[in-house]
Amino acid sequence: MRLCADVGGSFVEIAAFDDAGAIGWRRKLPTPVDDWAAFVALFADALAAVACDRVSIATAGLVNPRSGIVTSANIRSIDGRALGEELSAALGVPVRVVNDADAFVLAEAARGVAVGHARVFGIILGTGVGGGLVEHGRIVSGAGGIGGEWGHGQVVPESRIAPGANPVFACGCGRKGCLDTIGSARGLERLHRFLHGVDADSIAITRGAEGGDAQSVATVDYWCDLVGGPLAMLLHAVSATIVPVGGGLANARGLIAALDARVRANLLTPAATAVVVPGRLGADAGLIGAFVAGG
Ligand SMILES: [Zn+2]
Repeated sequence: MRLCADVGGSFVEIAAFDDAGAIGWRRKLPTPVDDWAAFVALFADALAAVACDRVSIATAGLVNPRSGIVTSANIRSIDGRALGEELSAALGVPVRVVNDADAFVLAEAARGVAVGHARVFGIILGTGVGGGLVEHGRIVSGAGGIGGEWGHGQVVPESRIAPGANPVFACGCGRKGCLDTIGSARGLERLHRFLHGVDADSIAITRGAEGGDAQSVATVDYWCDLVGGPLAMLLHAVSATIVPVGGGLANARGLIAALDARVRANLLTPAATAVVVPGRLGADAGLIGAFVAGG
């Protein structure tokens, strides 16, 4: 039996998997965001409840592939810690740690919508933009653990001809015009406000577009330009053939279908079937990815 966990900024999903990969015992608990001892206790209690000989964790934040140190602004209890090593020392069992976006892609590649694809570039469109690249069932972690992280880098430059004409927003990384400022749910809302001067949440915008509301249709169309172009370029560069989508915007099926159409229009090699598709595993993708990552 293996204990697997998906550690997010609000909750920890924790479950015991049998050797065949089926979920048995499981719990959903608040994340101890400020208390390392409570974080350790959460796992110790789980191991006391269900006997497991190792632990696999998918977590929000970067995981440095060399040092194992986690960088997570929202979960201060683990920020700056060599999480796998320190938790293993405290629990007395081996602990494997992977980034949650990477876990999502691993899961969809192993058991979800991307089964059978050699190279899978998965994306997270939630409160921010994330991603991960999996090749033949293995994460391409890259330098510093940022492999597949496509959210940062300018996709919207300031207009030299008409300053202020382009939707250039400040990014949390300190740069301006990053994909993260546009491609996320908040980005869609920012873009809508920029274009129409109207505050609306991402659900209202995506539903509005599906219902034919002219302003929402225009926002989604521009959003597809800004996200679909860079995504097509990435697919060319890494030779990935499918893009599972996770995060809140994955539930906006019309939006994802529109993005798929825009990406496929940009592909040099025509794709006969959908390329950008919602993930199939839903809320269990992180747990399943943690299990797959544990080998
Ligand atoms: Zn950025």
